[in-house]
Amino acid sequence: MRQNVNMEIDILLETVKAKIVCSQCGGESDQTVGWLKSHDLFDCPTCGETADLTTPEWKAKVQSYIDACTGFD
Ligand SMILES: [Zn+2]
Repeated sequence: MRQNVNMEIDILLETVKAKIVCSQCGGESDQTVGWLKSHDLFDCPTCGETADLTTPEWKAKVQSYIDACTGFD
């Protein structure tokens, strides 16, 4: 049963959008939490700036989205 729950969470994370605000141009874009979880870098579609998603700030932000999705246990 636990396996099924984890699969459902993965599917859920693919449907939840997180907002990314570019530190260079302030442009906003949406990516799924699942995408953020599996990528280390994000290229801003507006100015091309690359955001490092491996920083503690980003990890904490992504984790907070995951916690919000999995907080029903
Ligand atoms: Zn930008």
